[in-house]
Amino acid sequence: MIIVLKPQITKKEETAVLREIRRRGYRPHIMRGVARTVIGAIGDEQTHQTLETLINWSQVESVMPVQKRYKLVSREAHPTDSTVSVRGNVIGGKKFHVMAGPCSVESEEQLMAVARAVKTAGATFLRGGAFKPRTSPYEFQGLGQKGLKLLAKARAETGLAVITELLSEDHAELVAEYADILQIGTRNAQNFQLLIAAAKTGKPILLKRGMSMRIEEWLLAGEYVLSNENPNLLFCERGIRTFETYTRNTLDLSAIPIIKQESHCPVIIDPSQGSGRADLVIAMCKGAVAMGADALLVEVHPDPAKAWSDGAQQLTPDLFARLMTDIQPLLAAVGRE
Ligand code: PEP
Ligand code: MN
Repeated sequence: MIIVLKPQITKKEETAVLREIRRRGYRPHIMRGVARTVIGAIGDEQTHQTLETLINWSQVESVMPVQKRYKLVSREAHPTDSTVSVRGNVIGGKKFHVMAGPCSVESEEQLMAVARAVKTAGATFLRGGAFKPRTSPYEFQGLGQKGLKLLAKARAETGLAVITELLSEDHAELVAEYADILQIGTRNAQNFQLLIAAAKTGKPILLKRGMSMRIEEWLLAGEYVLSNENPNLLFCERGIRTFETYTRNTLDLSAIPIIKQESHCPVIIDPSQGSGRADLVIAMCKGAVAMGADALLVEVHPDPAKAWSDGAQQLTPDLFARLMTDIQPLLAAVGRE
C-alpha cells in the first residue's frame, strides 16, 4: 500500500501513523518529498489487517493499493494468451470463432433451421437460450430442459458446439450436462455464488460484462471462476448502459484492448445485445475483428419478425452469411483464420 500523508503534519503525527502501520504487521518505507511524505507499506494484505482504513486518520491524505486486486486473470500471472478448447475448437488462438444462433430456443423447427444455416455459413458454435433472463416476468422465459435437449440434438446433427445461459445455481448440473460452454448473462455477472457453481461444473465459462460494470469489477468476477479451479474463462463484452438511446446498449469496443492488456483470457464480442439493432450488427462485428476480438456471439433467427425474444437485433440467415463473408478480409488483415 502507498500511504500519502497530509502536508504540514507534525513529526509526532507522522510517528503515530508509522507505529500503526508496524502494529498491523507491515514494514513502512518512508519517502520524504518537498511538500509531503509518502509511506510504502510492505506486507501481505491477505493475512494482515488492511491498511485501507488509515484513510480515516486525520493526518492521512490517501491510501492506494500497489498490486492489482485481481491475480489469476491478470496478464502478470500468465504473460501469454490463454486458449480455451471446446470439442476441438481452440478459442483464443489463430482461428477466429463465430458463435451464432437464436436469442431463445423456440422450437425444433426454428433451432434446426438456424443451426444448419449458421453451420453452412461457417459458424463453429451454436448459441441459444433455454433459460431466459427476461426483464419482465410476463415475457417468454425459455423452454428449460426441453430447449437444452433441442440444442443437444442440433449439435448431434451439425457438429456445432453448444453455448447456452445458466441462470441459477440449481440448474448448474443440468445445464452443464447439455452445454459445451456455460454463458453467464449480464444480469448475473456479479452473482458470485452462481459464478462459483458454474466454475465447479468444470465447463468453460463465457462471462458477459454486467451492463453497469466497470472493467475492474468484470475482471474480479472472472477471478471467481479461475480461483475456483476452472481455468477456462472467456470475457464477453455485450454493451453497457449509457445515456444514448439510438442503441439498446453502448458496445464498449475499448474493452477488447483493455482486457487484452490486463488479462490473458480470450475476449468475445456480442454485437446483438450490444446494439439491439440488426442493421448495426455487421459493422460492429467488423470493428470487433479489427480490434483483436477472439470470437463473436451473434443472434440469428430464421424469421426475426416472429422471434419470441430480441427480434429487432437478430440477423436473418442471409445477413449472417453476408457477415461471414464481409469479415474475411479483416480477419486476413489481423492475421486470423
Ligand atoms: C442473450 O445472450 O440472449 C442475453 C440475454 O444476453 P445478456 O445477458 O448479454 O443480455
Ligand atoms: Mn438475446
